[in-house]
Amino acid sequence: MKFPRKLSWRFLNLTTTIDLKVMEKRHCGIYVHIPFCRQKCRYCDFLSAPGDSKCIREYVSALKNEIRSYKEIASEYVADTIYFGGGTPSILEPEFVEEIVGELKGCFDLRNSEEFTFEVNPGTVTPQKLKGYKALGINRLSVGVQSTDDEKLRLLGRIHNFKEAVECVEAIKESGFDNFSLDVISALPGQSIKDYERDLEKIIGLEPKHISSYSLIIEPGTPFFKDYGEGGSKRGDLPDEETDRKMYALTKEMLKRAGYERYEISNYAKPGFQSKHNSSYWTGKEYFGLGLGASSLVNNVRYSNVRDLKEYFNDPSKHVIEERLDKAALMAEFMILGLRMVRGVSKKEFEKRFETGFDDIYGNVLKKLKPAGVITEEDDTVRLTDYGLDVSNSVFEEFL
Ligand code: SF4
Repeated sequence: MKFPRKLSWRFLNLTTTIDLKVMEKRHCGIYVHIPFCRQKCRYCDFLSAPGDSKCIREYVSALKNEIRSYKEIASEYVADTIYFGGGTPSILEPEFVEEIVGELKGCFDLRNSEEFTFEVNPGTVTPQKLKGYKALGINRLSVGVQSTDDEKLRLLGRIHNFKEAVECVEAIKESGFDNFSLDVISALPGQSIKDYERDLEKIIGLEPKHISSYSLIIEPGTPFFKDYGEGGSKRGDLPDEETDRKMYALTKEMLKRAGYERYEISNYAKPGFQSKHNSSYWTGKEYFGLGLGASSLVNNVRYSNVRDLKEYFNDPSKHVIEERLDKAALMAEFMILGLRMVRGVSKKEFEKRFETGFDDIYGNVLKKLKPAGVITEEDDTVRLTDYGLDVSNSVFEEFL
């Protein structure tokens, strides 16, 4: 579906400029998608592909047009966080990032923005590039290390080995970035618990302020799916469920010992270094997703940009409405996303936001879940237990 710009904003229930001026500014996050990678990793189903310099140039120009198309509605918001994800944002030279940031500044109020994260793939940055990023106000880097074993990195189709990842982290530190996160993947083909333990030791040794740890998911449509998916000839190389669970438990244990607080199912941080941008998704804050295929949540409407690059180049402001969230959907989303956070959900906040008694809506769900040991309720807070976090998907179904 495509909306002429005016109708589109009317749909989003933001009527006239005069109205907008008198309304109090709302808070949002900004996500910018950079869909280019040097090469496609074999397990990856993200919206990303290799792109030559001409294509990247054209993309930056389309992205700037898209940002400009938000000028009117953006004046209503103050952006607390910015996140460049991908793909591989670090494929961009700082000059391109500067152009995009300049456009963002022209549309959004970024003055109070406290966190500006940029995803980095080792093998795509140099000390000069990092300095350039820093000069643009980027204050947090998220680095996809994924494994410390070169054989596994090759298998995954990563463009870097572990030595290059270490050099990347050293360059990050030398460039003055204190706040950086490292990603690691567990349950890789042929990986033993001992292997994964070594991975975690080396990752911790690089002293990141934040670690994201995910189990490998074999996504349909990827080369990995052919080998390791249902009926794949190498499926037997994947760690079994029991080993996967042990790796998951080991992550919690080792990172806790190393001083990382688990604050979300897959995310751990040193005190004060939780990702503000990702936390805002889990607390239901509005966000603008810019770039190919990016999703937004604005005024209770979830919409997505087109996923075809040619179509995006033709009209970067075209988007598709995915869902208009009614009150029931918003309440369920508030609970499901909020319970991903270890700190849980405040009943008072729920009641303030939805003007509805928490127990009237979820009293029976809690009565059912508490005896199962997956959820606890303490004063105003409802949170998943450790066991509840382990089986979170089945717990979340109860809130739908
Ligand atoms: S670098 Fe990231 S986004 Fe790009 S192909 Fe690999 S996993 Fe996918």
